[in-house]
Amino acid sequence: MNGSGRVAIVTGGASGIGAATAQEFVAGGAAVAIFDINQAGGEEMARSLGPNACFFHVDVSDAEACRQAVDALVAQTGRLDFLVNNAVSFIAKGLDVTTADWERSLGVNVRGYANMVQACFEPMRRAGGGAVVNLASISGHIAQPGRWTYNASKGAILAMTKCQALDLSPHHIRVNAVSPGWIWTPEVARAASGDRAKWEPVWGRYHMLRRLGEPREVARAILFLCSDDASFITGADLPVDGGYLGMGSEGLGETSSFAGSE
Ligand code: NAD
Repeated sequence: MNGSGRVAIVTGGASGIGAATAQEFVAGGAAVAIFDINQAGGEEMARSLGPNACFFHVDVSDAEACRQAVDALVAQTGRLDFLVNNAVSFIAKGLDVTTADWERSLGVNVRGYANMVQACFEPMRRAGGGAVVNLASISGHIAQPGRWTYNASKGAILAMTKCQALDLSPHHIRVNAVSPGWIWTPEVARAASGDRAKWEPVWGRYHMLRRLGEPREVARAILFLCSDDASFITGADLPVDGGYLGMGSEGLGETSSFAGSE
């Protein structure tokens, strides 16, 4: 994309998909602000991206903190064009879920995304419009064991994205979601105890493409949705999932398949 002279916020930009997205914005000529609770990681990421990047310590579940940080950024840049709501609570609880788990999960993943859209609306409107991308997930579409919190929060993001798209459309602000499949990020690497060679063939089989995705592959889709090439796309969800959602529970069909009688 040609981001020259434009300004983006990426929440959760200290790590994983958010860090890759911040890199893509800078590579496209935009200025980027990383909003994250990881002070050291966020500062380091902004430093590595050079003078077109900066860091704000923000917990997106805190509406007032979001508003103050957005206002401080816009006081420096004079404008705001793009918001990528990417920060996440990975709390995955089912029958064992507590009230505190719900508050954190929905507080970051749902209210946090709403807080940021509310804080960014006025400066984006003043800039003449813009684009928001909300990170949903394959988990917002399907059942997974013991994951009421995370999957409910991602399903809520999908529903909220459509409502935000409708409400912001008169102001020329497009709002879309992306639903990644399994992506090699620090969270997934932790689940694999760092052993990619062992786990990629196992988890890769959940995807038609038989592998996991890279953070940059999601970042490129996010940049597309922000770009003018996506000028007639709003209220949509773009799977970036290697074919995960298109494939039913028969999977790759390597064990059994019903061939039909004719
Ligand atoms: P990650 O853990 O690498 O990065 C998440 C970042 O969010 C971290 O830097 C963390 O400090 C920050 N963060 C957490 N809580 C925050 C808060 N309250 N306020 C501000 N920042 C906060 O995550 P990732 O794997 O890159 O995932 C990024 C997004 O993509 C998430 O929304 C996730 O649900 C989604 N996603 C990831 C995968 C995957 O396989 N990794 C799959 C589907 C969807």
